[in-house]
Amino acid sequence: MNKILEGVHEFRTQVYPEQKAFYKRLAAKKQKPMALFITCSDSRVLPNIITNTEPGDLFQIRNAGNLVPPYGASLGGEVATIEYAVTQLKIKHLIICGHSQCGAMQALLKNNIPDDLMGVKAWFQHAQSTRQIVRRKHARKSGHALHVAATEENVLVQVNNLSTHPCVAVGLSSGDIHIYGWYYDIASGVIRQFDQSQGKFVDLEKTALGTSPMPIREW
Ligand SMILES: [Zn+2]
Repeated sequence: MNKILEGVHEFRTQVYPEQKAFYKRLAAKKQKPMALFITCSDSRVLPNIITNTEPGDLFQIRNAGNLVPPYGASLGGEVATIEYAVTQLKIKHLIICGHSQCGAMQALLKNNIPDDLMGVKAWFQHAQSTRQIVRRKHARKSGHALHVAATEENVLVQVNNLSTHPCVAVGLSSGDIHIYGWYYDIASGVIRQFDQSQGKFVDLEKTALGTSPMPIREW
């Protein structure tokens, strides 16, 4: 805890004074984030750092496994945050980002969550399709390759779940909303995006330089 308290002190006495004008500007107007960024709670995945963005740029949902309950499955924080992001903040770009070495994906693959972790078990129901797709489609994979495949498949499952929310579906049908599926590799810093035309995740750096990345859900 000491390191955190020291950090609070350093922010207050060193970082903030240097950026005071920026924070005053942030507070003076309504937030206008560029994207809704949905990712895992994993402490190694920091949306603002991996996208080199600033406070105010990304509206975020973080949970174990970057899951999105499909519409009607639950009325919790995720649903409320999606509705607020799309209808009130008018966010047009929705990113779902899975990551390497994801403990949630590991647990999903092992399928041995202890019975006393009722919350975790219930939460992972939103990734049941991922489990079945992986079992059917990636049966011959193991180790790292299996983990990557599961994480990527899970991103696509959650993209589908996200598109079941009426406010998102309306935006997709009018072409106002775009959804992107990402995979972030912690060790290399590489972000890959699902490319529908190629049917696979490709390095954003190689595909998107100078062009807009192609969303995977857009009609
Ligand atoms: Zn994770």
